[in-house]
Amino acid sequence: MRIEDKLGKTRFKVREESHIRLAPGVPERRRAEKLCLACPAGLYSLDGDGRLLFSHLGCLECGTCRLLGWNRELEAWDYPVCDFGVQYRNS
Ligand code: SF4
Repeated sequence: MRIEDKLGKTRFKVREESHIRLAPGVPERRRAEKLCLACPAGLYSLDGDGRLLFSHLGCLECGTCRLLGWNRELEAWDYPVCDFGVQYRNS
C-alpha cells in the first residue's frame, strides 16, 4: 500500500485552536525552508515576504517541526487535547 493510500484513511478531529504556534517575526529563511520541506503533511509555507505560514489542519503529530523549530520558529508545540487530533486507521 502506498503512503498516500494509508494517509487517505487517516481521520482528523480538529479544534479551532492550533496546538502548534509560530513565534512572531520573520524567521531565518534557510531554517524556515527546512520546516517547509520537512513537514510530511506540507503544513508550512513561506509568503512573498519570507514570513512563515502554518495551518494545523492535517497535522500528523509526528514531531518533526518540534525538533527543527523548537524555541526558534515555534513558540509552542503540544499534542492536541484529549480526543482531538489525528486518528490513524489500518483498515
Ligand atoms: S508535527 Fe509533523 S505533521 Fe504536524 S506540523 Fe509538525 S512536521 Fe507537520
